[in-house]
Amino acid sequence: MNGYAGTILRVNLTTGEIKKEPYDPQVARDFVGGRGLGIHTLWTEVPRGTDPLSPANKLIASTGPLSGLLVPGAGKMDWACKSPLTGGYAGASVGGHLTAELKYAGYDAIIFEGASAKPVYLFIEDDRVELRDASGLWGKGSITTEEMLKKRLGEEFQVATIGPGGENLVKYACITHDYGRQAGRGGVGAVMGWKKLKAVAVRGTQTIPVAQPDRFWELSHAMYRACKEASGLEAWQRYGTTIVTSWCDEVGALPTRNFQQGSFEQGPGLYGQVMRERIVITDKGCFGCPSPCGKYSYTKKHGVFVEGPEYETIALCGSNCALGDIEDVAYANYLCDELGIDTISAGNAIAFAMDCYERGILTARETGGLELRFGNAEATFTLIERIARREGLGDLLAEGVKVAAQRIGKGSADYAVQVKGMEQSGYETHNATAMLLAYMTADVGAHHNRAWAITYDLQVGRDRVAPDKVARVIELQHIRPLFDAMGACRLQWVELSIDVTSYAPMMAAITGIERSWEDLLKISERIWNLTRMYWVREVDGFGREWDYPPPRFYKEPATGGPTKGQLTTFESVQKLLDMYYEQRSWSKDGIPTPQKLAELGLDRIVG
Ligand code: SF4
Repeated sequence: MNGYAGTILRVNLTTGEIKKEPYDPQVARDFVGGRGLGIHTLWTEVPRGTDPLSPANKLIASTGPLSGLLVPGAGKMDWACKSPLTGGYAGASVGGHLTAELKYAGYDAIIFEGASAKPVYLFIEDDRVELRDASGLWGKGSITTEEMLKKRLGEEFQVATIGPGGENLVKYACITHDYGRQAGRGGVGAVMGWKKLKAVAVRGTQTIPVAQPDRFWELSHAMYRACKEASGLEAWQRYGTTIVTSWCDEVGALPTRNFQQGSFEQGPGLYGQVMRERIVITDKGCFGCPSPCGKYSYTKKHGVFVEGPEYETIALCGSNCALGDIEDVAYANYLCDELGIDTISAGNAIAFAMDCYERGILTARETGGLELRFGNAEATFTLIERIARREGLGDLLAEGVKVAAQRIGKGSADYAVQVKGMEQSGYETHNATAMLLAYMTADVGAHHNRAWAITYDLQVGRDRVAPDKVARVIELQHIRPLFDAMGACRLQWVELSIDVTSYAPMMAAITGIERSWEDLLKISERIWNLTRMYWVREVDGFGREWDYPPPRFYKEPATGGPTKGQLTTFESVQKLLDMYYEQRSWSKDGIPTPQKLAELGLDRIVG
């Protein structure tokens, strides 16, 4: 199996048994790897109706055929499980060096099953694979744990960990790697915590077979050359994702005060240029990356080092909570990373609580005396700690805003900015119909990375409700997740404009399987439809209503900024869904039709 190590590790945490199994070539061919293997494993191996926090749920860490090879950004790993946050599919991608190291150790993926009675970590050094006692690590922060393990095992080990948030089953706990890179969304860290798996430490010294080495080298050089010569490289490398903060603020897309508006009066203090000057120490990249977007920072005000903050953290923990000092955002970022919770969901949940507090829905009695007003940095820090440790109001917010609103009542659901139970990420969508649709239909809940369509809204008219917008969202939903299956970063394509179709000959040179770019997109569509069927199978009554956007965007106009007074009507929401389902050949309730499943070869799997 060229491009693959050819072996999957199966680790049963209940029995301690570790098996090495051959990677099924047919699964690799039909689902590529990464997120494709993740959803295929969930569908075929995790019984219907499994409680996400039970031994029957599985956690799948999966690389792709590009991972660990000289392809720009080929350092992505996908973590999948049944989500404790949404009850549906969770798939979270993380960069860094773990994915390359795992393949060098001889494995394409690890499937964790069952649950251990005591804390353990998985040690992998080529053929040597052991579950080791992690009692001394339990309770420690994510980054502290990584430091401890590297000190114990050696710097050359690549480590992924959970923090107290994962141990305490916060529904949006993340998995941390490389001192601040996160598999952030959907609660993959809570599943790891439930399994009492504190960390994974990997070192590998083997090689990855490539079908056509000469062709591979030629294509590899061409891709790296294209990145090096890209006009956007310098700015991207200097600012990373924070390059968009000022743009979002100017066009009214920067979530502010729990998505009430898209422009923040203190926004300029959070811009990438300010951050670079005030706190960034150096750039940091993933394996094989020619355009390192990671920014490693030090906040003098709070005395901590942190990777970041990147745009999403600035948007959710900054403007959305009305914090205007980049050093405060960096500290919130540090707390979330060390405690092991997703900065997007945490920032969203805290802003939701602030919104409820300012409206009198929550009072000092529920907040434990916290003056939970927008802009209160100290209250934000305290609440992050309480969420991770499940104390007081933090215990409720640890369930996610959908459940929190259900329990609080008093109309608070109108201020819970979520889809399918996942907190919306960093784009304000009162009037940006393509981006709104992207959030409504993303396969994990309201996450931006499946289809970053906000620029298309600005390009063609943000309030237009038209078939081309829907087509653009669907196109992006096939291109972007394909990168998560191949095991590579999409940002060289997004930010440096390298030819996306060049990944087809690269895949062919590595795997020896000749497929066009369209062939690969068809596989991505297969993965997308199987993921949709997973939701249908696992969530009672799943259908159209699960794709509805947060009420905030159709019930209440934006309160300020360039989109002041604007919203997307509920009628437009319905039109968007009608067009989306039609273009996807799904039923009017959003279920893939038998014909569509047969066309994608999924009828054999779905039955
Ligand atoms: Fe990693 Fe950023 Fe490079 Fe992508 S662009 S590989 S996320 S450092």
